[in-house]
Amino acid sequence: MSSRKTRPSGYEETIAHSGHRLTPQRREVYNVLLDERDHPTATEVFLRAKKRIPAISLATVYNCLETLVDCGLAKQVNVEREATRYCPNLQEHGHFVCESCGTVTDIPLSKGRSLSQCLSLPGQFSVTHSEITLRGTCSDCTKKPISKITH
Ligand SMILES: [Zn+2]
Ligand SMILES: [Zn+2]
Repeated sequence: MSSRKTRPSGYEETIAHSGHRLTPQRREVYNVLLDERDHPTATEVFLRAKKRIPAISLATVYNCLETLVDCGLAKQVNVEREATRYCPNLQEHGHFVCESCGTVTDIPLSKGRSLSQCLSLPGQFSVTHSEITLRGTCSDCTKKPISKITH
């Protein structure tokens, strides 16, 4: 097993190998994902990318995100009934969705374990895709005093 760095250093090659060209827009969209790992939606990525490339369009951002997902550089995170979010964390991890403020946080797995090792998967089942979403209250919201409902 080759040890890979958390920040993928060879993403330009990854894009090239998948037959895609690394356009300046794709690079910026990817940088937006890496800079703030809060699982933004395509619209949020668009607003951030626009600060770097004012001429970029929402359609281009969608296109870039699709390419990054195709290349395996980013993952789509679907939180029910909400717009798809994007995550550049390629380590196997779960997501914690705060039901109070809506933030999505990466939850690392215990060292050296994969998702399927954490669950007791019956023999001869093979996993092609795994996704763990936990829901609850994040630490920030837990600390906040409960706002009183006034009638
Ligand atoms: Zn919260
Ligand atoms: Zn994530």
